[in-house]
Amino acid sequence: MVKEKMTKEEFNNLVKKTDEEIKEVLAEIDARTFANSEKILNIFHKYGISEMHFHGTTGYGYNDIGRDTLDLIYADIFGAESAIVRSQIISGTHALTIAHFGVLRPNDTLLAISGTPYDSFRGVIGIEENPSSLISFGIKYEEIDLLDNSFDKEKILERVKKNDIKMISIQKSRGYSTRKTFLNSEIKEIIEEIKKVNNTAIIFVDNCYGELVEENSPIEVGADLIAGSLIKNLGGGIAPIGGYIAGKKELVELCAERMTVPGQGSEVGPSLGITKEFLSGLYRSPQVVAGSLKTAVFTSKILENLGYDVSPKYNEKRGDIVEAIYFRNPEDLIKYIQGVQKGSAIGSIEVPIPSYMPGYTSDVIMASGSFVSGSSIELSCDGPIREPYIAYQQGAIAYEYGKIGVIIALKELLGINE
Ligand SMILES: *Cc1c(COP(=O)(O)O)cnc(C)c1O
Repeated sequence: MVKEKMTKEEFNNLVKKTDEEIKEVLAEIDARTFANSEKILNIFHKYGISEMHFHGTTGYGYNDIGRDTLDLIYADIFGAESAIVRSQIISGTHALTIAHFGVLRPNDTLLAISGTPYDSFRGVIGIEENPSSLISFGIKYEEIDLLDNSFDKEKILERVKKNDIKMISIQKSRGYSTRKTFLNSEIKEIIEEIKKVNNTAIIFVDNCYGELVEENSPIEVGADLIAGSLIKNLGGGIAPIGGYIAGKKELVELCAERMTVPGQGSEVGPSLGITKEFLSGLYRSPQVVAGSLKTAVFTSKILENLGYDVSPKYNEKRGDIVEAIYFRNPEDLIKYIQGVQKGSAIGSIEVPIPSYMPGYTSDVIMASGSFVSGSSIELSCDGPIREPYIAYQQGAIAYEYGKIGVIIALKELLGINE
């Protein structure tokens, strides 16, 4: 165990010291937030968003002007030709699933080049056997592991130059693994290399947690298709459900036909009055993402000061909103996560314990005291109970709430009583 007994005064001084140390990094986040806010507001102005866009449709959802405009807005945010944003997409995993089933056909090959994908996607591919997986439909799956935390360029190029691959997938965020999150500049580099030897493979990026963190999107660095969740960054903590897919027009159309019905695609699917929440969440998302990033920076630095390994370091360039803390023993991990729950807005009196989660390979302990169930743009922290006992923390609607929550968690960890 790294931590030592600490008095309340020593702890308060540590918070002050940490505040000083992270000042400059927080200022950089403010600059990005300003640019993102300007971008979003300009897009709202471009489409003349007004009250008429809030009115929802029911039933089939034909001619839903709010829904259709929101699609255009998301496309613009990512610099994509086209996008679909829907409440009928029930999670990030569902958005990824639609994208894969939309594009891939029997006998096609899917190649994952950032190692084994996110836990909840393994059953979708069929890495964990499932009678409804991509593999069960005759899709061939291959993966190339990372090499020293980065793309294994040599192996990837050797494999893709055969030109028999339909889709290459990249997971930007680390998910529940010790690898690093890819920056869009790194994604750009590998896509450029791939395109030199293979310009037919469709490049897909799982963009979960990456939205508005960097100055560009994976589409703007060469990806053909991306997907993500609205109970993460772009939902701004307001969207109660939803996901998006964006990219090349013909690919997004294929996905829309898989999402609804061949022949109807994105023209159906009633918004049921949810568009106002999607727009409102999106409008706030630059500040909400900033709150998450600042909370991650504070967490990173204060836990580093306490002697824990963290990733990313407070001043490292970030590609997503996730902070990984290496507790190296289950007791500290569990205490910290229980502390995060205690510091959350909702359910602060509940005590999370490790348990089985569908789609995950080991028991997981999760703190999620959120308004939207399972939302991870709100302060949340998950820890799979396996070596090296890492807590993955993300979210906080505002920096102040995030920081206060983390301080409560640390007091729980360090045994500091009020
Ligand atoms: C959150 C996430 C997903 C999707 O998860 P859901 O819980 O289904 O929304 C997929 N990939 C990554 C990297 C994620 O962070």
